[in-house]
Amino acid sequence: MNKNEILRKIPQVDEILKNEKLSDIVKLTPHDFLVSCIREVLIDVRADILNGVANDIDKDNIIEKLKEKVSKKSKRSLKKIINATGTVLHTNLGRSILSKKSADAIIDTALNYTNLEYDLKSGNRGNRQSHIEKILTDITGAEAAMVVNNNAAATILVLAALASKKEVIISRGELIEIGDSFRLPDVMGESTAILHEIGSTNKTKLNDYVDAINDETAVLLKAHTSNYKIVGFTEQVDLPALVKLGEKYNLPVVYDMGNGLMVDLNDYGIDEPTVRSLVKENADVVLFSGDKLLGGPQAGIIVGKAKFIGKMRKHPLARAFRVDKFTLAALNATLFEYYDEKRALESIPVLNMITISKEKLKEKAEKIKKLLVDNIKDVSGFEIGIEKVKDQVGGGTAPDVYLDGFAVTIYNKDVAAEKIERKMRAADVPIIVRVAHDKIYLDVRTIQDEDIELLVSEIKSII
Ligand SMILES: *Cc1c(COP(=O)(O)O)cnc(C)c1O
Repeated sequence: MNKNEILRKIPQVDEILKNEKLSDIVKLTPHDFLVSCIREVLIDVRADILNGVANDIDKDNIIEKLKEKVSKKSKRSLKKIINATGTVLHTNLGRSILSKKSADAIIDTALNYTNLEYDLKSGNRGNRQSHIEKILTDITGAEAAMVVNNNAAATILVLAALASKKEVIISRGELIEIGDSFRLPDVMGESTAILHEIGSTNKTKLNDYVDAINDETAVLLKAHTSNYKIVGFTEQVDLPALVKLGEKYNLPVVYDMGNGLMVDLNDYGIDEPTVRSLVKENADVVLFSGDKLLGGPQAGIIVGKAKFIGKMRKHPLARAFRVDKFTLAALNATLFEYYDEKRALESIPVLNMITISKEKLKEKAEKIKKLLVDNIKDVSGFEIGIEKVKDQVGGGTAPDVYLDGFAVTIYNKDVAAEKIERKMRAADVPIIVRVAHDKIYLDVRTIQDEDIELLVSEIKSII
């Protein structure tokens, strides 16, 4: 048979739809989706014939391929993965994971009507911000608080409300760029505030601020250099000094803090101020993300003096940036844990992963190693080991902090680690790992206890 004859034998879409072996799938799958899968399979069939890979039509094989495609493409694109990188706040992997309680709060809010904007006491319209303001002010010591979609939105809202068409003074050493296109100068531009840069990259003095203040000045902005450190011959003005200057000239001091740390982590090697300490130093407004060291859902949280927060609430952008009910529910549940800091270190997964003891990490590594050895002892050539590693907090926080951790390593002199890594990435629940020295590193800090069995069974089937 020549190629043209075979091509002519390719079944039509309708014919395939009538195939008995597909009757279940036809019932359960949306029609247009199924047709698009069939077309894709037929394109592959045609290509195989033209390339000489196939020299006849195998209808059963077409049905099998179609079933596989339907099953694969019906899965959600956004799905669970196992993070074996050891980076706790991995921006590409969704930053913070939530506690069970926070996740339950989202489900409860999703499945039911809620009092989102309904005041149960008076029976009148309520305010969605009311659900988190009390708890935020309790925990941070601030007068007032509000929440928007993320810290980028918070930055725009704060500057639009306090400094529209006015000047905002900021040190050149703090013109940060964070991760995926948060460039402070660009974000500020969107707020219609006018950027007034002062000092140099490595040095800015109090007098630079004094010299820059003029009739158009509306805000003194300080940004935490979250994801980099300037070392050596450096000088920046600290928050208390800036607050003093702000008081003298009657200008609000806004601090873009970023990480949202609520518990002092100095004992764990993380030398960062907490939100509460910044409020105590009298910053007028402090803004931060919900899904970094706070360990909650994506959000931009603004705390500070009531007269400034009030202006933000009334600004039209507050409506554009307003958070959804799921965020509020999860944030509320996360924040509640901070009424007891010790409890927060245990119950908030991000903090738990950062502060977990070396001994516990080692135990986890040994458990995973043993399970792997038991499960693949019949497969020759694989060497499973445990190595000390340095983990990062990630998410654009604490760039110079390396936490002591452990990784389970997988090595096979006959199989390239890259090949195993690729298969792990393609697994049903993808496993994201590091490869170094031709070994797979399963960094145990970020592997959840509930996922250990799954991890082992997936690796077993890959190997
Ligand atoms: C992370 C960060 C941002 C951006 O926050 P998103 O919540 O990702 O929008 C802004 N400023 C600082 C200082 C940050 O660390």
